Amino acid sequence: MAVSKIHSIVITGANRGLGFEMVKQLAESRSPNCRIFAGCRDPDAAKSKSLQELAKKHSRVITVVKLDVTDPNSIKDAAKKVGAQLEGGRLNVLVNNAGILIRGTMQSTTDQHVQESFNTNVMGPVRVFKEFLPYLRAAAKASPEQGMSCAKAAVINISTIGGSIATIPEIYGFFPAFPYNISKAGFNMFNQCATYEFKKDGIMFVLIHPGWVRTDMGGPDGEIDAPESVQGLLNVMNSLTEKQNGAFLDYKGNPVPW
Ligand code: NDP
Repeated sequence: MAVSKIHSIVITGANRGLGFEMVKQLAESRSPNCRIFAGCRDPDAAKSKSLQELAKKHSRVITVVKLDVTDPNSIKDAAKKVGAQLEGGRLNVLVNNAGILIRGTMQSTTDQHVQESFNTNVMGPVRVFKEFLPYLRAAAKASPEQGMSCAKAAVINISTIGGSIATIPEIYGFFPAFPYNISKAGFNMFNQCATYEFKKDGIMFVLIHPGWVRTDMGGPDGEIDAPESVQGLLNVMNSLTEKQNGAFLDYKGNPVPW
């Protein structure tokens, strides 16, 4: 896997599932100069043990950072810690991966379910992005690369076809997740607003659907395992150019209907 152009990356929700697998594949790839900051809301918990072990094994490249996307102070502290370790204060890639899935229909879920989902799946990534923005800006400004790319400065937003307004009639009947669906649609809109607002800064924004993956969230009936999904995600990330700024793609690089 060719990931050599990414010098620094922050991944939220990295202690399990897709986030963990992304840290693992990046650390094991032939990109010894890539600094990986693995965001994790509870680094000392049992559920973070595999990440801690991986970080120990690859201590030169992986740094575990306490980061709860619902807690503004935690994000501020994380950004300060990461910023101090970034070469020239430059961050190439932020992956907004952390998310929660609350299932149920509009009638079976509550206000609180919707609020929790928006807090984690929409406001979380917005807060994280705003704290890390100065480092992304610095990377874009200092990069000798022509055009936008993950080698320069990019925000990769891990979304889902469950947030696609066009696709929802096909899936809502057998997989209703009202709080998740509307929050991920909001997340998609964040991506599009940011694409417009930060174009002048040279920062690229892309939404990627990782497939239906056998993680804690995707469950045992998912179509693919995390390694396959993440290999696809990384290949797509590496291939992105300015033409895909604001795109909604799947892990194979195919466009997802809005
Ligand atoms: P998992 O449930 O396996 O993992 C979710 C991760 O998000 C965990 O690391 C979890 O940390 C973290 N997280 C949750 N809330 C917070 C928070 N407040 N602050 C920081 N981290 C948090 O999910 P997946 O790995 O399967 O999913 C990753 C992303 O991919 C999500 O955004 C999801 O919507 C998307 N996706 C997944 C699909 C699938 O089939 N799996 C399909 C489509 C999209 P903790 O251990 O502390 O809870």
